[in-house]
Amino acid sequence: MIQQNPNSMEYVKRHIRDVVDFPQKGVVFKDLTTAFKDPRALHIIGWDLSQIYRDKGVTKVAGIESRGFVGGSILAFELGAGFVPVRKPGKLPADTIRESYQKEYGTDTIEIHRDAITPDDIVVIHDDVLATGGTMLAAYRLIKSLNPKKIYINCIIELSDLGGKALLPPDVEVTSLISY
Ligand code: AMP
Repeated sequence: MIQQNPNSMEYVKRHIRDVVDFPQKGVVFKDLTTAFKDPRALHIIGWDLSQIYRDKGVTKVAGIESRGFVGGSILAFELGAGFVPVRKPGKLPADTIRESYQKEYGTDTIEIHRDAITPDDIVVIHDDVLATGGTMLAAYRLIKSLNPKKIYINCIIELSDLGGKALLPPDVEVTSLISY
């Protein structure tokens, strides 16, 4: 269990902006751009994320488009791992595999390069927010189909009322920095 400095996490929380009714009515959007633009909050996020995986032999971090690219890149850099993008359809230039899923608002599809992950990889899948879990489950299925040695799941914020964790495989370690 990684000990977070509670003062640091409170600092990050104060820099997360709630945007009511975005992108549609009834959704309270957890806007992390206000934390990412603050140097201290960004540093705390990167440091605390990396502490979770320091001794786990992680070789790749897969970040989910687009806000998952920010924390995912920092995490990969801190761990000395590679970064691979999980993207919306039609954005990746080479041979891809894809998965469709339900979101808190609408249906979506994500893709990854077929050669992004190899069987000797230990992978952290990272996104900014875990809401209903549909996006993360689709990313997990994509990456699992490429047979890595191990997969961890990670996000900065978990919206626990939306039950995303319960959708994910029970044998996979799911870690978040902040839970609402
Ligand atoms: P889900 O598939 O429902 O877990 O949704 C996760 C994805 O949608 C993440 O990529 C988030 O960036 C985004 N998302 C969903 N709900 C929210 C929310 N309330 N606040 C911020 N981002 C959200």
